[in-house]
Amino acid sequence: MKHYRFFAGLFLSIILSIPSLSYGDGEKLQVIASIFPIADMARQVGGNDVEVTTVVPAGASPHTFEMKPSLIKTFASAKVFLMIGAGLEFWADQLIQSSGQKLKPVVLSDGMALIRSADPHHDDSVKEVPLAPKSAHTEHAHSHDLHTGNPHIWLDPHLAKTMVTRILEALSIADPAHALAYESRAKAYLGELDALDKGISDTVNQFKTRQVISFHPSWDYFAARYGLTLVGVIEKTPGSNPTPREIAGIVSSIKAYHIRAVFAEPQFSPKVADVIANEAGVKVLILDPLGGETLPGRNTYIGLMTYNLQIMKEAMQ
Ligand SMILES: [Zn+2]
Repeated sequence: MKHYRFFAGLFLSIILSIPSLSYGDGEKLQVIASIFPIADMARQVGGNDVEVTTVVPAGASPHTFEMKPSLIKTFASAKVFLMIGAGLEFWADQLIQSSGQKLKPVVLSDGMALIRSADPHHDDSVKEVPLAPKSAHTEHAHSHDLHTGNPHIWLDPHLAKTMVTRILEALSIADPAHALAYESRAKAYLGELDALDKGISDTVNQFKTRQVISFHPSWDYFAARYGLTLVGVIEKTPGSNPTPREIAGIVSSIKAYHIRAVFAEPQFSPKVADVIANEAGVKVLILDPLGGETLPGRNTYIGLMTYNLQIMKEAMQ
């Protein structure tokens, strides 16, 4: 983090000395974000100087998103495309190419140590699950994780801070005239993310249950950051159902750890989660890894994380 701040500072002093490629009054920097959490971060940093479009709408999942040709126009008029990378935006290549040279994708996960499903650290915890068949845990990741790593970095506020720093750099390069404003908003927002992180830490430290059954492999970074253990995942590949054997494994994990709830997610059908919850005699609660502009309470990244923390509290405290 220190390095990023240093480079951001150095970098700003360089670009501020470049006479303006700047935007005229009222003309906002056009930014595209693949998913809502990135869009909110860009709005927090960009304020009134940017106009941010989110590609994946509220209620949809980036894992099952189908690119619409109408997006080509959006991409043609934008200057910055902010994306996670790690295979999350598998639908974006055509859009990036169609925009020609002027739209530079900013891959926010670049250089991060991504969690992989074959990560030995993760396999260790399998040994702690005496009743579960090993399939319940060994592959809790997207089918493509082995190659690209798990993309859900934004659900760890520490990595979110790195993302914000990168967004600051990207906006400042694209629109140097507003670099100072971007920097001061980013600084304030990074402070809010520190407070969020502390709030999550304090709450999670009081949890009685530290084992989690997640719906898809979205909470791996969150769990790693705050000391929770993922003991099962309902849809290892988002959108595809578990086998009866995998369901049985999840149910035995729930019983072994006295887990009180399984988590579903608003972007996918809760059907399988309901089946598992019924069989194990626990409830289904909704965790939301994505949020969206139109969802009250979940229409900022911080609001989204606060919502999720409340849900986890209900299940685990
Ligand atoms: Zn996901």
